[in-house]
Amino acid sequence: MATVEQQLPETHNGVADGGTDIPVENPATGEIVATVPDLGADAVAEMVARARAAQPEWEAYGFDGRARVLSRAQKWLMDNAGRVVDTIVSETGKTHEDAQLAEIGYAGNAFGFWAKMASEYLGDERVKSSQILVKGKKLVLRYRPLGLIGVIGPWNYPLTNSFGDCIPALMAGNAVILKPSEITPLTSLLLAEGMRECGLPENVLQIATGRGATGAALVEHVDMIMFTGSTRTGTKVAEAAARRLIPASLELGGKDPMIVLSDADLERAANFATYYSMQNAGQTCISIERVYVEEPVYDEFVAKVSEKVRALRVGKPEGFGSVEVGAITFPPQLETIKDHVADAVQKGARVLTGGKQVPGAGRFYEPTVLVDVDHSMKCMTEETFGPTLPIMKVRDADEAVRLANESPYGLGASVFSRDTARGEAIARRLDCGAANVNDAMINYTVLELPMGGAKASGLGSRHGAGGIRKYCSQQAIVVTRLAMKKEVFMYPYKSRTSRLLAGFFKLMYGRGRRA
Ligand code: NDP
Repeated sequence: MATVEQQLPETHNGVADGGTDIPVENPATGEIVATVPDLGADAVAEMVARARAAQPEWEAYGFDGRARVLSRAQKWLMDNAGRVVDTIVSETGKTHEDAQLAEIGYAGNAFGFWAKMASEYLGDERVKSSQILVKGKKLVLRYRPLGLIGVIGPWNYPLTNSFGDCIPALMAGNAVILKPSEITPLTSLLLAEGMRECGLPENVLQIATGRGATGAALVEHVDMIMFTGSTRTGTKVAEAAARRLIPASLELGGKDPMIVLSDADLERAANFATYYSMQNAGQTCISIERVYVEEPVYDEFVAKVSEKVRALRVGKPEGFGSVEVGAITFPPQLETIKDHVADAVQKGARVLTGGKQVPGAGRFYEPTVLVDVDHSMKCMTEETFGPTLPIMKVRDADEAVRLANESPYGLGASVFSRDTARGEAIARRLDCGAANVNDAMINYTVLELPMGGAKASGLGSRHGAGGIRKYCSQQAIVVTRLAMKKEVFMYPYKSRTSRLLAGFFKLMYGRGRRA
């Protein structure tokens, strides 16, 4: 067993307070693959001081200089893709395909996207104004980096969801301290090593390994916090951020519904239901977690999905092509999955396939299809985050929409119909941050579109212009070039001037809104 301190350079991330270490387990085997320091509040404060000292130089690199580093990092990621995939698999137990498609594919795209788009999203904007008093002045909206961004990430996508948010934060000119989940810190450490090889100045990106307390300590220092994780922890982070009056962007849990209308291409719908509920063993915030199917096609849809799910291989990933469904990464998650299935069965649901933990080494749960489900069951209302798919029969599209919206969450959703106009009309009625018609989850790969949750699924969004502007403050600059000694409205006040101004305002604003 190699410790991460042995693998990484001396300068890495300060020291552990009190010397406690966190073991990192491979969930597919139960083996401890590494240990990382559990950094306490003092170590975090030292990292913050180093980050603040390093940030001005990084900001001074400008868009082009920073884009060069990110472009090199993009190439580094592709050159080291095998090593990164192996690291992700070793700490999550996910399949190699899940690591390649949803993590390497995402980050490869993200490095290039933010390197290219940052100057467009953050470049100075010249503004025109109808306000007569500023005629002739230069008006500029400027985005300036906030300084130090804290990124706190979950365990389900160590590259996409933890490290991924560092990319736009860095490209905006900030220093970043990333607190990865204690369960999956190794990918972040490896990426930080890669970034240094690509020329990122020392201490511009640091990884604060540790538990929840390390994340809480980080929130006490940074200028903005980007949090991805559960709604429960996200609420605590938002409270801490509010006390300090710093912005917080929160990407939280979900319970994404899929609606299958009776005119849907059932073969496509069944393939998408199977893949997007089981991919990453269901441990994706935008997994399909529940399906509502119109009555006329319910039986056929259920038969197709059951057959497809029954054919999936679950177990220890031994390389590409070995299994479809990997491990349950986080030990308590397995208890949640078991609890949701037991609760459903106890309330009258039937298990058509799966329904049990896989015996033997590692932490696996059988790909599971549940029917005869309703909203009295946890599997339909709480985030399961496992390889389970409850399917419910509905009378019609209106009932499907009502049930889909009957949730505290509102992250993603999907609608399947051959009538795309009807599908889109239904998508527009769903209370969620992203809705796909005849597809699922694909919106996440479109970095031009905002990705964020409604209701208890979050605040703010990643991706798109807002996904990088949130790492900046806005500064308004007004430059008066033709400068007279004084303006007409200044002292001394004279009744003639005041009458003139009153007439002028009436002329400008007295006719209501012009057509
Ligand atoms: P948690 O909320 O348990 O943890 C998220 C991160 O917060 C971890 O790094 C955790 O550290 C840290 N943390 C824990 N307590 C605190 C605290 N008091 N202050 C600051 N940080 C703290 O989430 P999970 O890791 O279990 O992730 C799964 C959840 O993430 C699911 O609900 C999922 O839906 C959601 N998610 C949302 C996404 C989105 O884009 N909306 C994407 C991916 C996941 P540690 O792990 O060391 O305890």
